[in-house]
Amino acid sequence: MNTPTCPKWCEFNHAAWDDEPDGHDGPSFGDVSVGVAFGDPLSVYTEGQPSRTPDQAREFACDLYRAAAWVEDHRDD
Ligand SMILES: [Zn+2]
Repeated sequence: MNTPTCPKWCEFNHAAWDDEPDGHDGPSFGDVSVGVAFGDPLSVYTEGQPSRTPDQAREFACDLYRAAAWVEDHRDD
């Protein structure tokens, strides 16, 4: 569920008791996620993966690019 303090892009499934959460998750782009902790700017974070094939690396780079663009688009929401 969303809380009254959620930004409109929040996709995190907050618990009912968590009416003032300190972070919100946006969409994921493959292994790349975006979100924010209050007081910090929107940021891009990734799931750890020790090694990637060239194809996986290329796809990962593309996901990173899309995540970065999303953050720039939603910074002022
Ligand atoms: Zn939220």
